Amino acid sequence: MTNTSYDQLICIPITETSPDAFFAAIIEASQLAEIVELRLDYLTTKDCATVLTRLPAFINETGHRNLLLTFRPREQGGQRDLNLHDRQSFWSNLSSEIIKAIRFADFEFDLVKSLEETSPIPWEKVICSWHNFENTPDDLLTRYDQMAATPAYAVKIATKAERISDSLKIFELIEYAKGKKPVIALAMSFAGFMTRILSPSRGSMLTYASLRSGAESASGQIPINDLNDLYRVKQINRDTDIFGIIGNPVSHSRSPAMHNKALQSINYNGVYLPFEVADVGEFMRDFVLPKTRKLDWKLSGLSVTIPHKITVTPYLDYVDLTAKAIGAVNTIVIANNDLIGYNTDVEGAMKPLEEIIELNRTRVAVIGAGGSARAICYGLCQRGALVTVFARDIQKAIPLSKEFNVGLLPLNDFNGSSDILINCTPVGMSHHSNGEIVLSPEKLNGVKLVYDLVYTPIETALLLSARSHGCQTLSGLAMLAGQAAEQFRLWTGRSVSFNCS
Ligand code: NAP
Repeated sequence: MTNTSYDQLICIPITETSPDAFFAAIIEASQLAEIVELRLDYLTTKDCATVLTRLPAFINETGHRNLLLTFRPREQGGQRDLNLHDRQSFWSNLSSEIIKAIRFADFEFDLVKSLEETSPIPWEKVICSWHNFENTPDDLLTRYDQMAATPAYAVKIATKAERISDSLKIFELIEYAKGKKPVIALAMSFAGFMTRILSPSRGSMLTYASLRSGAESASGQIPINDLNDLYRVKQINRDTDIFGIIGNPVSHSRSPAMHNKALQSINYNGVYLPFEVADVGEFMRDFVLPKTRKLDWKLSGLSVTIPHKITVTPYLDYVDLTAKAIGAVNTIVIANNDLIGYNTDVEGAMKPLEEIIELNRTRVAVIGAGGSARAICYGLCQRGALVTVFARDIQKAIPLSKEFNVGLLPLNDFNGSSDILINCTPVGMSHHSNGEIVLSPEKLNGVKLVYDLVYTPIETALLLSARSHGCQTLSGLAMLAGQAAEQFRLWTGRSVSFNCS
């Protein structure tokens, strides 16, 4: 059989370690995915025997026949210490009833070679697999040819992506296999995230999903609910507009959840992915710039976050006035082969603030002098606010103060004589300095409104303290939602209300 076109299949591996939980998980997984992989190597010898004894009756009762059986040795990513003889005996001793009922069996490449003359499983049910948990080598096409030359029905190649560009090798492999033997190809780890979402629409026979978070059989596996409901994998096709966020790290980002829900809410054929990008130049060259990119895809828009908001600018054809004034781009629109940079942080930050308080002639203390402080100062000055920046390192903050013509004082000099205080530092952020406050809480006396750009956690120590000092508060979630809504409008022309909670 050659690889032409397939339904987009999802396979959920069962990684439970007791027979009862194993069967319960099969029932649950069967309702969510087309293929259920029984990872028998997750069971002890005794429990595996119990499962295999109960399996024929279970199949008869439930009618679940879309089963893929796997018995993986530890050195190839499995959970059991098994030599080649153990594995051969395992497959040879399977009952004919089970062999008849299952849809697929996963044989590692070395096992396939050892059984080529005497496979106990009909070859039309065998997926020949190879895993590399170290990296993604350059010779995947040669490896595919070797594996495809065996009598197995399909070839599975799963490698670890060390960087996002390794995904290109996976997509190249899928393209190469077109018209040949079916291929399942994916890159493990977060850097390979896009392969798990996009591979089926590009021709991979299936993609894997975990039954739930914590039940993964390999690094980077996405929970089935996210794959189905958030990323809508089965609806992705070659016409799907691809959006995403580039940053490093981005695994914590709320943007994929927000934008995918918004795309779904207007029934838009689009998907939004996290792109963990270490080298922005390489990513722009290989994935984005129409003249040099190595991936044929409908990339339509990008969010840009730390640390690429400034370094991405030279790759753009146009940068709008606000982004130019701030010196940072957080949004790229890709249209007619042009890349246009915007900064929606200003609108996103100012809109919720203006809804609460008049900014003209209002005294605002901006704490910090980094990227977000620039956007905040620009927006405030445009609205006639009286801005003073408070920075721990005055020298570093001088350019910002001069450029936007705002006051500048050492952070320790803040004494509460402001109507609004805006925290533009990461202080108080989870995994950074959770629970900490950027200035002594008693200095908040007299401040009317405290706005914390940090949004993880939503209730920062600063906001809690501000409320106890009688200040009104505004969480960074409001800005997050505002800037995302503006990005969405730029990409799709549609206004959607974003809910980030
Ligand atoms: P940035 O460019 O790295 O700037 C951080 C600023 O904070 C710098 O001026 C830095 O001073 C200062 N700073 C860091 N630690 C400090 C400390 N312990 N005490 C005093 N000042 C300190 O970062 P950014 O892009 O502006 O982001 C800042 C925060 O805003 C982050 O938590 C980010 O997640 C959040 N943010 C939220 C949104 C939103 O949508 N809600 C949007 C953008 C940013 P030095 O230069 O001296 O290091």
